[in-house]
Amino acid sequence: MTEVASEILSSPRLLLVEDETKTRESVAEGLRLEGWTVTTAADGGEASGVLEREAFDLIVLDWMLPDRDGLAVLRETRVRGVQTPVLMLTARGAVDDRVLGLETGADDYLAKPFAFVELLARCRALLRRPVLGTGPVLRCGDLQLDTRARVAVRAGGEIPLTPREVDVLEYLLRYQGQIVTREMLERDVWKQTHRFTSLDNVIDVQLMRLRKKVDADGAEKLIHTLRGLGYRLGKEPA
Ligand code: CA
Repeated sequence: MTEVASEILSSPRLLLVEDETKTRESVAEGLRLEGWTVTTAADGGEASGVLEREAFDLIVLDWMLPDRDGLAVLRETRVRGVQTPVLMLTARGAVDDRVLGLETGADDYLAKPFAFVELLARCRALLRRPVLGTGPVLRCGDLQLDTRARVAVRAGGEIPLTPREVDVLEYLLRYQGQIVTREMLERDVWKQTHRFTSLDNVIDVQLMRLRKKVDADGAEKLIHTLRGLGYRLGKEPA
């Protein structure tokens, strides 16, 4: 595993979507004590909003929510190309529901009520799976990056990249479909943990250069700038 990948997983970013306040707060607290970085959402609308602004390594998603249900949130997330593993929480035991959820892109299920240790074990197991493209080759459309050889290829031609550009491209590919903020790049790629001086300009220049190389010559645009938010790598949703 490369340095970037191990860094991502050292304090995994988890989104917990759960409308029951007590469950949400106790699970969030338990996960934080285990070293996870936890963001919570209390309904489907809030979850969708958070997922449009931030990237996560894992999503724990309650099926039954007061507004849009977990399945709708999951479907929308997968349509955007987000590959983050999803553990669905469900009180439903019906086989049909599980099949529907799995077809929509859920990676695992946990029936309520559950013990925290079981949730934690399932979360850890999902992070170990190669779903975030932890294999040596990461892909998006006709772009691929061999993370061992550190060679990027698009439409059959090699893209000449600097070592830093390879790091950034690998990071964007691992979080493809999700918004990668400058703060994330600063911490995980530039390894700057304090903000005495902001690297925003350095990062913007670096991303502009990378985009010129990756999205050159009328190729489909894969690296997108989201003003005030960050960057996202992925095909535009149809
Ligand atoms: Ca619920």
